[in-house]
Amino acid sequence: MSIGVETDLVMSGYKAHTQGFYLKTCQNFIKKRLKLYCMVDIAIAGSVALDTVKTPFGEAKEVLGGAATYSSFAASFFAKPGIIAVVGEDFPQEHLELLKNRGIDLSGIKKEGKTFRWKGSYGYDMNEARTLKTELGSFESFKPEVPEEYKKAKHVFLANINPELQLQVLEQMSNPDIVMLDTMNLWIETKKQQLLEVIKKVDVLLLNDSEARELFKTPNLMKAANSALKLGAKHVIIKKGEHGALLFTDTSHFNAPGYPLEVVKDPTGCGDSFAGALIGYLAKTGNNSESNLRKAIIYGSIVASFNAEDFSLNRLKTLSSNEIESRYKAFEDIRRF
Ligand code: AMP
Repeated sequence: MSIGVETDLVMSGYKAHTQGFYLKTCQNFIKKRLKLYCMVDIAIAGSVALDTVKTPFGEAKEVLGGAATYSSFAASFFAKPGIIAVVGEDFPQEHLELLKNRGIDLSGIKKEGKTFRWKGSYGYDMNEARTLKTELGSFESFKPEVPEEYKKAKHVFLANINPELQLQVLEQMSNPDIVMLDTMNLWIETKKQQLLEVIKKVDVLLLNDSEARELFKTPNLMKAANSALKLGAKHVIIKKGEHGALLFTDTSHFNAPGYPLEVVKDPTGCGDSFAGALIGYLAKTGNNSESNLRKAIIYGSIVASFNAEDFSLNRLKTLSSNEIESRYKAFEDIRRF
């Protein structure tokens, strides 16, 4: 073989090799970009449910609800959430489509058994729901598996569900900047020790006023917040329904008003919408300072106030970013003196 032919062969082998290498690099690059694209900003664990709700202004049967549902929908106005939950084989596909079309990642939702169902009612004081029935369904045996694309999320919201599941989710996360936790009286009454364990690990604890009193056995909200801070929570937010929310840290205190609404049809999911918008705003701005947290609380109050205007997610479904911003301006007016 002449040197010229040998060189040609070597060169074409080299070319094929570099082309192969180039192709592989491109493939890896695309894979990485796709993975980045699929990554979520906020991992949200909690119930995805079918609710039956009665208020003095109407009734809704077997409608879309659940803590992770409301919170991820509210968060999606600001950033990309992904849900960790389980629904039953009986869960309507149209509900999943609705969430998917909002850009919410559903790869952390398993489908097995029977869907979680909650039945509740409200009197004319709509700040407190009366639980009439809770059917855990497939949540009873649920073993949460956090998808790879969620593990590196910098924001985690452990929405209302059994605190043992909240802990299992948290243990699978890589290194979040902000972990926020919500709960309810059922878990305070049946899983108190497990709940206290999770509280030790979170940056932001959300409770409504009656839950705070019940959990820390005091009528005084300041004392309740201080007990939670002593346990390890860095920020404690106490929600007071239509009267707004209080933020406590070791060194400060902030008081956000509620938005004065004339039409309130169903407050179900207001706490979750508040939480979702709050963490969504933190994720969008990438700023976890206290002054930004105060702004995030206002955004939480705004989205929660819209949610109360109709049953299920009906109002959130039609809500626009412009409406959120104009209510933000109204909030600024309310607070000016
Ligand atoms: P809230 O924001 O507090 O009004 O939350 C209402 C939502 O919480 C409803 O859509 C219910 O499906 C859900 N929910 C009620 N009870 C529980 C529970 N024990 N665990 C998890 N989610 C619940």
